[in-house]
Amino acid sequence: MTYTPNEQRYDSMLYNRCGNSGLKLPAISLGLWNNFGGEDVFENQRKMLQKAFDLGITHFDLANNYGPPYGSAEENFGKILKKDFSSYRDELVISTKAGFDMWPGPYGNWGSKKYLIASLDQSLKRMGLDYVDIFYHHRPDPETPLEETMAALDLVVRQGKALYVGISNYDAETTQKAIAILKKQGTPFIIHQAAYSMLNRWVEDGLTDVLAKEGAGCIAFVPLAQGLLTDKYLGGIPSDSRAAKQYIRSLNEKDISTDVIEKVQKLNEVANERGQSLAQMALAWILQEKSVVSTLIGASKVKQIEENVKALEHASFTEVELSKIEEILK
Ligand code: NDP
Repeated sequence: MTYTPNEQRYDSMLYNRCGNSGLKLPAISLGLWNNFGGEDVFENQRKMLQKAFDLGITHFDLANNYGPPYGSAEENFGKILKKDFSSYRDELVISTKAGFDMWPGPYGNWGSKKYLIASLDQSLKRMGLDYVDIFYHHRPDPETPLEETMAALDLVVRQGKALYVGISNYDAETTQKAIAILKKQGTPFIIHQAAYSMLNRWVEDGLTDVLAKEGAGCIAFVPLAQGLLTDKYLGGIPSDSRAAKQYIRSLNEKDISTDVIEKVQKLNEVANERGQSLAQMALAWILQEKSVVSTLIGASKVKQIEENVKALEHASFTEVELSKIEEILK
């Protein structure tokens, strides 16, 4: 079936400027870490990407090793791009990353120039692209000089293989250093991809201050704590959930503790009082934080994307609601 995008796709999504850059990102972006690999159903992946775009989600986030197996999410994404989005490349912001283990030996991990340059070339081939919009260093490397890693980011922009660069999982202090180096090299730093949710608030402890001061944006990943911040685990572990899937190891039965479920239950009540689902409230809450330009969700089903995008219909909070939430999260 030929895909024709929804003509109203830009009517309801909110687009936020990423720091002081010229780039705007949708308040909700879609990540392909899970559910887009070789083990997952290709037609479902295709439907999710089509629905996302129809709803104004213009930003898709990948990494070299998303799968499993490694590389397969980029390969599947490349196939879908070719089938459905070849006329829409200029309406999309596509990102990828390198920094975690990708291939064996000393050149397939961490932050050397050798690894980053080779990895981006591989990613471009897998996706069938000439360039990505954002290339990230995926995590800090304690052994490679920061100057070398940042020089690799600077180089890919000069080569035209990435339009913008960012970093991910760097603490506030190292972020500050990375920004200073990039400034000297002449490539502006525009975005930090950081874990941020109601259950993981580390970015509030310095990172968002640095980003605000430096005119950079934050894109918040795992905003639903992999599904914990929805109502799905309140009655046990559904068989089609991430926690039940054997080939995914990032969320397990032990993560769904009584303590967490008690909090989630209370948060769910606040969300229902606001007339929205917990997933919607969790996303709206993140967008309140300074510097956050986008929440980077994952999905296994089209209906989750439809539900999550509706978070924007009621994204403001009263002081009373915010203090109720603080009380629960304490
Ligand atoms: P989320 O916290 O958004 O979790 C997504 C999962 O939650 C879905 O796969 C689904 O799980 C469940 N879910 C989503 N919406 C709903 C809903 N409305 N109702 C019920 N369940 C729902 O994010 P992810 O963990 O998927 O990560 C998002 C993205 O962040 C990644 O794809 C990646 O791009 C990025 N990321 C970056 C990292 C980095 O180091 N830079 C690390 C990790 C992620 P289920 O399968 O159970 O249905």
